[in-house]
Amino acid sequence: MRETLLDVALVIAILGGSAVITHLFARAMYVTCPRCRTLNARRRTQCRNCGNPLPTRTAPSP
Ligand SMILES: [Zn+2]
Repeated sequence: MRETLLDVALVIAILGGSAVITHLFARAMYVTCPRCRTLNARRRTQCRNCGNPLPTRTAPSP
């Protein structure tokens, strides 16, 4: 029983960890459209789904 609980905890840890890594990777590589929630590549300036202008996070400050 105790081993089963450890196995379950390990699986949850692995799944949770990979979900976090995937989330971080997606945030690093893509921009989410604020209007339709579509993931767009970083280099895009407009949403590929609805054409909404995407916010650029790397805007140079004056
Ligand atoms: Zn959009």
